[in-house]
Amino acid sequence: MAGLYLHIPFCKQACHYCNFHFATSLRQKPELVQAMQKELIGKAEAWRSHSFDTIYFGGGTPSLLDPMELEGLLTTIYQHYSVQPNAEITLEANPDDIHAGSLTQWKQFGINRLSLGIQSFANTDLEWMNRAHNAEQATQALQLALAHFPNLTADLIYGTPGLTDGQWIQNIETLTQLQVPHISAYALTVEPKTPLDKQIRLQQKPTTDPDQQARQFLIGMDKLRNAGYEHYEISNFAKPGHRSKHNSSYWKGIPYLGIGPSAHSYQPPVRSWQIANNRQYIERIEAGSLAFESETLTPVQILNERIMISLRTQEGLSESEIPPTVLESWKPMLNRYGQEKFILIDNGSIRLTDLGKLQADGIAAALFLEESDQIN
Ligand code: SF4
Repeated sequence: MAGLYLHIPFCKQACHYCNFHFATSLRQKPELVQAMQKELIGKAEAWRSHSFDTIYFGGGTPSLLDPMELEGLLTTIYQHYSVQPNAEITLEANPDDIHAGSLTQWKQFGINRLSLGIQSFANTDLEWMNRAHNAEQATQALQLALAHFPNLTADLIYGTPGLTDGQWIQNIETLTQLQVPHISAYALTVEPKTPLDKQIRLQQKPTTDPDQQARQFLIGMDKLRNAGYEHYEISNFAKPGHRSKHNSSYWKGIPYLGIGPSAHSYQPPVRSWQIANNRQYIERIEAGSLAFESETLTPVQILNERIMISLRTQEGLSESEIPPTVLESWKPMLNRYGQEKFILIDNGSIRLTDLGKLQADGIAAALFLEESDQIN
């Protein structure tokens, strides 16, 4: 099994916090989609032995694709790759692109899961983030999308300065009352070189407050669990049977193929990625160059990634994945984390408690191995 990710690097406007690769001019879109089709064809041979059980159109804003462009990409995939008959096929969409016509068309093309970038239902918050939609559009789009795609996920962002706990609760309740089956909730992070980073440095906007973020994370967990959602990954909540198969495959270390500028691929132990520049991506594909850079992960790097990713999941880090000598060396640290109520160890898995989830990165980093460590 494997996952297929397609990066559509275009957006209507730049959200101030975003550090994904995208352009706000759509001028190169037709040419770039053609280049992605060429990349798909060029990489098919290397992925011949894999069958894809998830396809994910991410970005950027894939809902900006014209129907013909989306159909062209899907046709190329089906012509050149093996896709499981019940594959999960997700399209990320922004509320301002949701119309009955586009929803019907996406369904006809075989899209069976929608990922809606709501982020907030508070207008002040949406304006602060420089989102292209307002609160009313978010609600209407969500209702319309759910009528066509019962398998839907919505993204929310918490911890933006100015988002009160009351508004955060309201954002969550709007989704739970509509029975949205999957919700991703992310803390606002200030990424280097984003407009938000610059605005904060120029003191045009306040920076984030870690206490507010921690409080809103705990509120979110509590509200969503009480509403019947499984908290199956630190930022992801699902009604039973609605976990994201695509993201779960990343967390399980399953190989994935990424197509488009900035997209990453992983065929253990090699990770490769495309250049994050639309013009140069098109030129490179035209010249027959299928990968920009790659690295071969060492066994220690692979294990460290497993530690970091698994700790974020409900299932936790299985002790069976860790060499016995390493587990032995971790004992004093694990005992301490247990006493501090950051972790629980049961059924051979190391799991983070709610308190531990607030320290997830620090705990993972403390467990990381050095290249000089013996792991065989
Ligand atoms: S729509 Fe998504 S990808 Fe585009 S700028 Fe906003 S957050 Fe980034």
